[in-house]
Amino acid sequence: MMNKNLKYDYLIVGAGLAGSMMAYRLKQIGKSVLVIDKRPHIGGNLYCEKIEDINVHKYGPHIFHTSNKMVWDFVNTLVPFNHFRYCPLASYKGRLYHLPFNMNTFYELWGTKTPAEAKAKIEEQRKEVTGEPRNLEEQAISLVGREVYEKLIKGYTEKQWGRDCKDLPSFIIKRLPVRYRYDNNYFNDCYQGIPVGGYNRIIEKLLDGVEVRLGVDYNRQREAYDGLAEKIVYTGPIDEFFDYKYGPLEYRSLRFEEEVLDQESYQGNIAVNFTDHDHPYTRIVEHKYFEFGTQPKTVITKEYSQEWQLGMEPYYPVNDARNGERYAQYKAEADRLDHVMFVGRLAEYKYYDMHQIVEKILMMDLGK
Ligand code: UDP
Repeated sequence: MMNKNLKYDYLIVGAGLAGSMMAYRLKQIGKSVLVIDKRPHIGGNLYCEKIEDINVHKYGPHIFHTSNKMVWDFVNTLVPFNHFRYCPLASYKGRLYHLPFNMNTFYELWGTKTPAEAKAKIEEQRKEVTGEPRNLEEQAISLVGREVYEKLIKGYTEKQWGRDCKDLPSFIIKRLPVRYRYDNNYFNDCYQGIPVGGYNRIIEKLLDGVEVRLGVDYNRQREAYDGLAEKIVYTGPIDEFFDYKYGPLEYRSLRFEEEVLDQESYQGNIAVNFTDHDHPYTRIVEHKYFEFGTQPKTVITKEYSQEWQLGMEPYYPVNDARNGERYAQYKAEADRLDHVMFVGRLAEYKYYDMHQIVEKILMMDLGK
């Protein structure tokens, strides 16, 4: 590269969790870093905005959960976490059911009271899938039977991914636990919570003492930024980095409709998932419940899923076979660039949760 005016050891593209964690670790080993982000705020999709004294998760609900004590201890040194437990409800054709699939759900569906009764019911319905499940539909039926699949999985999943469940990979549904216990905690992990005061505080801590420039779109101003540092950590979409030369990767995007309501509560719970096709949105989140709020007003967000198009925010990688092949082409190209590291959900085209990013970056060997 020509005209290098190396002012920093590292340029980090993206001030989300991946970029901020990288900045934190690099700073710790004495590297000088510059973080840039095209948005007007730090935090990426963790970003919260205070509305009516409620921390509103502007890019969808984020719940931190992990079974890794080192990860949990680390994030708690940044900010204390509260004892929040994610227990969303599902709404199907006007009736509410508990999630994840557990004894409460089975009681609501069939009136079964004991694990043995519920298991017998599900066992009977699971039989229709024999052999290794080939797609999400078969995976779901072989896990919980046809009725749970049709009432609580099919509609939600098809809205969220914009694809038939037969055309989706089965690993997506493996995220959801099935329990023969009365237990509505969505996650199996040992540790769970929301940072007291919202997620911005974590990012602020990670970026403490780091130079950050906002409103900078790296992919449009590369000449100006590439020369500033010897190494680059890129956390944006990998296909955009390579100017879509192998064609765009598919993502799901989200659209949020936020409302402030002049009432103390709206739905009495953090989230209601709409698992039928009668409602166009996938879920409604009522933000005050993240932090046990008692404010006089409430803020709700209706979440719509849509196919990503150029100019929209990419959220979820669509990890089907076709995109997997395309990603492999980009990845091969990325591997040849010794001075650029590709890190995070968009750069690695992978459905990462927050704790996985924290763990991965804490364990990364960054040399000296
Ligand atoms: N899912 C579902 N019904 C629900 C919630 C989730 O069928 O009520 C399925 C759906 O396929 C979804 C997957 O489980 O894509 C993972 O959901 P999760 O809540 O983990 O996704 P997140 O919103 O955290 O990305």
